[in-house]
Amino acid sequence: MKSSKVLRISVTDRCDLRCIYCMPESGVPLVAPADLLTYEEIETVARAALAAGIRRFRVTGGEPLVRRGLESLVEKLARLGPDDLALTTNGLNLARHASALKAAGLGRVTVSLDTLRKERFETITRRTGIERIFEGLDAAREAGLVPLKVNTVVIRGVNDDEPPDFVRFGEREGIEVRFIELMPTSGLSPECKELGAWRPALFVKGGEVRARVEEVFGPLEPVSGTDGVAEVFRTKSGARVGFITPVSEPFCAGCERLRLGPDGRLKLCLFDKGGLDIRRVLREEKAGPAEIETLLRTALGTKTTWDRGDLEGLQSDMFKVGG
Ligand code: SAM
Ligand code: SF4
Repeated sequence: MKSSKVLRISVTDRCDLRCIYCMPESGVPLVAPADLLTYEEIETVARAALAAGIRRFRVTGGEPLVRRGLESLVEKLARLGPDDLALTTNGLNLARHASALKAAGLGRVTVSLDTLRKERFETITRRTGIERIFEGLDAAREAGLVPLKVNTVVIRGVNDDEPPDFVRFGEREGIEVRFIELMPTSGLSPECKELGAWRPALFVKGGEVRARVEEVFGPLEPVSGTDGVAEVFRTKSGARVGFITPVSEPFCAGCERLRLGPDGRLKLCLFDKGGLDIRRVLREEKAGPAEIETLLRTALGTKTTWDRGDLEGLQSDMFKVGG
């Protein structure tokens, strides 16, 4: 089994969608361009992460493909020789970038898609373009950015009738679909006119989604030895289906992910309200890879006693931390 230590690198807080559970329609106050970590600074942190035993990287956002020249960051990261280099994207611009990303050394792609229906997509994302996402998935497959995965957040009354359609889609397209529980993040607030604040009525347990899938497709067979936070199963036809259940079955105890924000904040958890200001350490203290490595090792050590607290008190700017 691969190590579960992962550095998730969020390269921007900008996004070309406005998913109703993630960002307000009006957008969010953005990190000033001068305060974004440069690709060279990210490379320094990634090099230190490898030295600290973190051999897997995931690039995320905001929407990572809206940051200019992402391929050049991918190339820098790939050159360091991680065991795994993946990208999480909304897929809108993936068709244009897939082959260049592959050539730059990207290993694989996960696309976030919460519905297969055009009208519903426009309600959930407050934007158009679902067909571009299907094109993006095809382009990623053709480019060899595999295994291809789709992440679907299930929300009661919004898309909770779609899991069987997604499983069929996954079977047909050779994609692992992973159903994710809705989390209380800052996008879900009283200002969100579509959903309002997070509340139990919106929440669908992973176990409920799995039961619905088994009703239609029969018993799912567990797949062992997977390396992430998803519990993965196989349908009778061999398609892989995953469930990520951070709310009903928190996996904090075994989590070894660190998160680097676009502004250089290193967070121990999605719900870490503070974080370590790596940008300041890099720019003002002129820290090199050895000092950053020590900070990362300390962060990994601190995580073992991390307590995210009660659900009611959780908050996270998911659009910045990147999931
Ligand atoms: N823009 C990219 C994308 O959508 O894939 C990357 C960043 S996005 C913040 C990463 C993931 O976070 C997406 O899969 C999204 O569905 C998920 N996400 C955002 N808000 C969430 C929430 N309140 N609960 C669960 N997942 C959420
Ligand atoms: Fe953008 Fe991803 Fe958030 Fe949707 S989930 S608004 S695509 S950052």
